[in-house]
Amino acid sequence: MRLAARMSLLGTETAFEALARAKALEAEGRDIIFLGIGEPDFDTPSHIVDSAKVALDSGYTHYVPSAGIMEVRKAIALDASRRYDRDISPENIIITPGGKPIMFFTILSLIEEGDEVLYPNPGFPIYESMIRFAGGTPVPMQLHERLGYNPDLQEVEKQINSRTKLIIVNSPNNPCGSVIPKADLQKISLLAKKADAIVLADEIYKDFYYDSTHASITEYSDMWERTIVLDGLSKSYAMTGWRVGFGIFPDFLIEPVTRLVTNSVSCTSAFSQIAAVSAIESSQHSVREMVAEFKNRRNLLVNGLNNLPGINCPMPEGAFYAFPNISGTGYTSEEFEREVLTQTGISLLAGTSFGKFGEGYVRISFANSQENIRNALERLKQFLVA
Ligand code: PLP
Repeated sequence: MRLAARMSLLGTETAFEALARAKALEAEGRDIIFLGIGEPDFDTPSHIVDSAKVALDSGYTHYVPSAGIMEVRKAIALDASRRYDRDISPENIIITPGGKPIMFFTILSLIEEGDEVLYPNPGFPIYESMIRFAGGTPVPMQLHERLGYNPDLQEVEKQINSRTKLIIVNSPNNPCGSVIPKADLQKISLLAKKADAIVLADEIYKDFYYDSTHASITEYSDMWERTIVLDGLSKSYAMTGWRVGFGIFPDFLIEPVTRLVTNSVSCTSAFSQIAAVSAIESSQHSVREMVAEFKNRRNLLVNGLNNLPGINCPMPEGAFYAFPNISGTGYTSEEFEREVLTQTGISLLAGTSFGKFGEGYVRISFANSQENIRNALERLKQFLVA
């Protein structure tokens, strides 16, 4: 059987494959420490679970409008209006099964052959995959270790031309844990305006800052009319399996993106949406507690990594990933991932899972207990010293 040619353009997210390899070893009886996958190890707070149960008992078990239940869009819009200090209409909110479809739908509705898209590299692998799938040309915006894993804006300026349709920014960043400085966000906004390009601002880690608070490219003048904000509940409320994300769209994208939702998934799970209201409107204490614990884990992990031979790890300012430079160990990224898994039972990801500029690095998630992080550091020490 012959697949459609476009399937050869579609990439994947290797984190799921690495997880499957690690799980297979665990099934053989190996003691595995999972530092590969990008999700909080916390349980979804119980008040959110309870509201989903009430929603199920109340009959939220049917189709709902494609763009989302209006009451839920209103709750998200109200919360976003507070966060962004701006009046955001519920009409501009589209709810999707997780934040990922916002990339998919945004890129599908905007990009075609001949269009160029700047995207962070190392970066979330689905950006590049979707740009290619839509027929566009991915233009990697390299994140440099020397700039705290941020782009060199002189380089970016040279990469922008009349074909540049979309610029993707992701701050805090997966996989580097970096945060784009405000001055750079402003410069990117000016470059986007000058090129008449649209911006996809992936802000899914907006609650995960360790030394500062969230800054958005939408803060700069007129950016709302050309920016799609990607957000969702997966990370902040440990709700990755619930599949609730959303986008804040400029007016011209509301109808086409809603049509894509209708054509693909119809709508997002109704009871998950109702539970999302409880997550957003209740006390944010559980989010703050989780982030405080992640900060302790970050410090433990990064200080430990920097004591290991051949490893240099800058301190991540956001998200829950460390992105150590492992080039001093003599291994390539993929060798390091493979050898560390087979020899020590630690599952982590090669930097190249996030694009070609990830060579020489690995991503280590600190969404795991302090005990497991200590244990992993001990195993890594034995591996590197042996
Ligand atoms: N954007 C980034 C940068 C991510 O790391 C992820 C998940 O890992 C997502 C978006 C998608 O999240 P969701 O699980 O809500 O689809």
